[in-house]
Amino acid sequence: MSDLETPLRPKRKTAVVDFLVQFRWIVVIFVVLPISFTMYFLTYLGDIRSEMKSYKRRQKEHDENVQKVVKRLKDRNPSKDGLVCTARKPWIAVGMRNVDYKRARHFEVDLSAFRNVLEIDQERMIAKVEPLVNMGQITRVTVPLNLALAVVAEFDDLTVGGLINGYGIEGSSHIYGLFSDTVVAYEIVLADGQVVRATRDNEYSDLFYAIPWSQGTLGLLVSAEIKLIPIKEYMRLTYKPVVGNLKEIAQAYSDSFAPRDGDQDNPEKVPDFVETMIYTPTEAVCMTGRYASKEEAKKKGNVINEVGWWFKPWFYQHAEKALKKGEFVEYIPTRDYYHRHTRSIYWEGKLILPFADQWWFRFLLGWMMPPKISLLKATQGEAIRNYYHDNHVIQDMLVPLYKVGDALEWVHHEMEVYPIWLCPHRMYKNPIKTMIYTEPGFEQHRRQGDTHYSQMYTDVGVYYAPGPVLRGEVFDGAEAVRRMENWLIENHGFQPQYAVSELNEKNFWRMFDAGHYENCRRKYGAVGTFMSVYYKSKKGRKTEKEVQEAEQAILETPIAEGSVLAFTDDGVLPVSLVFDALRELGTEKCEPQIVTLSSSNQLPVGSSAVDIVFTLCRSIEFPNEQLLGEISRVLKPGGTVLIYKISDASTGETDKTTSVLERKLLLSGFLEAKALQVKSSLPSELSFGVKAKKPSWKIGSSFALKKTTKALPKIQINDDSDLIDEDSLLTEEDLKKPQLLSSDCEVGSTRKACKNCICGRAEEEQKVEKLGSTVDLSNFKSQCGSCGLGDAFRCATCPFKGLPPFKPGEKVSLSANFLTADI
Ligand SMILES: Cc1cc2nc3c(=O)[nH]c(=O)nc-3n(C[C@H](O)[C@H](O)[C@H](O)COP(=O)(O)OP(=O)(O)OC[C@H]3O[C@@H](n4cnc5c(N)ncnc54)[C@H](O)[C@@H]3O)c2cc1C
Repeated sequence: MSDLETPLRPKRKTAVVDFLVQFRWIVVIFVVLPISFTMYFLTYLGDIRSEMKSYKRRQKEHDENVQKVVKRLKDRNPSKDGLVCTARKPWIAVGMRNVDYKRARHFEVDLSAFRNVLEIDQERMIAKVEPLVNMGQITRVTVPLNLALAVVAEFDDLTVGGLINGYGIEGSSHIYGLFSDTVVAYEIVLADGQVVRATRDNEYSDLFYAIPWSQGTLGLLVSAEIKLIPIKEYMRLTYKPVVGNLKEIAQAYSDSFAPRDGDQDNPEKVPDFVETMIYTPTEAVCMTGRYASKEEAKKKGNVINEVGWWFKPWFYQHAEKALKKGEFVEYIPTRDYYHRHTRSIYWEGKLILPFADQWWFRFLLGWMMPPKISLLKATQGEAIRNYYHDNHVIQDMLVPLYKVGDALEWVHHEMEVYPIWLCPHRMYKNPIKTMIYTEPGFEQHRRQGDTHYSQMYTDVGVYYAPGPVLRGEVFDGAEAVRRMENWLIENHGFQPQYAVSELNEKNFWRMFDAGHYENCRRKYGAVGTFMSVYYKSKKGRKTEKEVQEAEQAILETPIAEGSVLAFTDDGVLPVSLVFDALRELGTEKCEPQIVTLSSSNQLPVGSSAVDIVFTLCRSIEFPNEQLLGEISRVLKPGGTVLIYKISDASTGETDKTTSVLERKLLLSGFLEAKALQVKSSLPSELSFGVKAKKPSWKIGSSFALKKTTKALPKIQINDDSDLIDEDSLLTEEDLKKPQLLSSDCEVGSTRKACKNCICGRAEEEQKVEKLGSTVDLSNFKSQCGSCGLGDAFRCATCPFKGLPPFKPGEKVSLSANFLTADI
């Protein structure tokens, strides 16, 4: 950094509001603190009551409350009622935005009953909690079990719902990511009242990835299952002073938790907790913590510091002592450590009550601290609120770790706010590009703190009155925030949306990626029910008409204005060329990521991450088979690939090359490969283009085949046609009843056949006679037991086949009616 001297600005004129701010402590001490304390106490009693109920009972009540939310949503008449908002009063949230969206007509859904810990599952290491459970409440339940959420935001009052849908971080985020990264499942009530459970890999996985940073604009969260980790009773904390310029401080901070050899997942080298506080442009204290057992902490010679007691010095002031006394180590009870910044509200408490850090105040009234942020907001009035917007900064800048030095210099020049809080967090490379996302190609650099699956970021927390304001100089808070937001956009940084923003809609979506979020808004029917995230975060009053017009515009956008990846085998890929080509396709709104490839066959983007891949190639072999496979990987199902060829006067075989390319695309699994007409609006050096689509189904996915029931051919019967009546074909002779052949034989007692027998009786009598001479029927024993039963039961070689049934020992005789038809 070349120059840390800030030019002095003109003096600012003092106004009435300055006195209101200066003497605000009177209202805080006599009104805000007593009410805050009463509210904390009542909330505590409510939590104890809830903890006395069994998990089963809590779950039952939860299910009933979910049904009430469902009913309320179903009762909404979209044409009459406004957009859906929670019934939470705007001033109750910890965030600094004005929550202006609640001033427009809206339809309230009451979620106030959702404040219970539903289950602590020690086997699955999961805490199932409702969205209004706050950090103080959850640590009170888990810490005695030697368990904790993997990320416990420092401030007691922060809620699970707010940390998931908004922003949540703490000193363990360099291992686990942001608060939302530790969630295993969400239970969400969608716009149509459907209740779904979204996880990383179930049918609602797209919703799962879209929830963080969505500010409740996709659905209402009614419970979350969050990862638990085992912990120990104490935090062994090392305070290490650093003296140097801001770049050197940034490097010392990186070295405190990110091994230079890249061994970022090695618990021996990486501490459990990290934070750095920068007190002046040249002084900082880096703190690293490791969980320690009671036995270790209580060993002789170790210092135990119970920072949670109300009379103890404020934590940031205590840590500052390292600048004077040098590096030191102490043991802090784990729960006290988690909430170390609560009592002093980081260092904001000093501005609200300038003497609250003095020993006499701490001993006398420290037990009432901190004032509830919600009450401070409720009692400040419009004038003080505007004063804070103009003369105060509460902002977090999320920046890649390697840019922390630059960010610190920027803050010093533009805002001059101290102390500054540094807290690292790992940003995961998700399979879907979410609202915040890693820098394209970061894996190839393997910078300090990065792994192949995550990029190390840092929250540069800028909270306090800027130097110029403290010196009574002119300071334009809104302009400073605007410049900060531009700096973040240019440096692939992000701004948590609880803070005041000056971004217009276009720049908001330059900072955050809209693609996946907007797709989910449409898919899950949120458009027209919940306000969009930009309008929710936007400063200033919103009318319902304004919001609805904006929603309509989104619905009418022609083609996925989503993500585009462009690359080339050439040295340069002009951005204007990419935009021109995309415009020809009807894609106006997009943020292309451009990669220039020379030889690599890998694309630096996650799977199913982009809507369009644009390739500009010079070589006839480009893209090769392997690269086409990569294109297929990074495209979302149904995504489009465009390949343009730069003209090469020597070949002149456009048609042949086009069909080769079409065939290559088809063989790589793309559909609808076809040549593109290179329009005159595109630069003349483009000789031809080919377009194809990735199939809209996922490889490996399954779906039920519809049974193709072939419809039988319909036959039209015309009753009037000349069909032949079968009866008409019979003659009179045919119609006569047939005379059955009757026995002509003598049927007296002897029942003998006549001489000229033609009825068959003589023949049968001969058989019987023959049988009598060969078989002794009186002693005959059937082997199979069926000979006497009749032909139906006899075997094929039975000697009695064709004869009537008989009883063993009796003579076989033909009955009189043996010729009578048995039909
Ligand atoms: C003084 C101060 C200290 C802070 N300290 C920390 C800190 O230590 N660590 C940290 O990580 N952050 C901190 N923050 C920032 C804080 O994380 C954000 O304000 C965060 O969004 C949580 O605030 P909240 O619990 O009040 O949620 P809210 O502001 O009430 O909610 C945030 C968003 O989530 C939505 N939402 C909440 N519940 C639901 C639900 N059930 N369904 C759908 N949508 C929902 C809300 O509508 C809102 O848009 C601090 C902010 C301030 C001002």
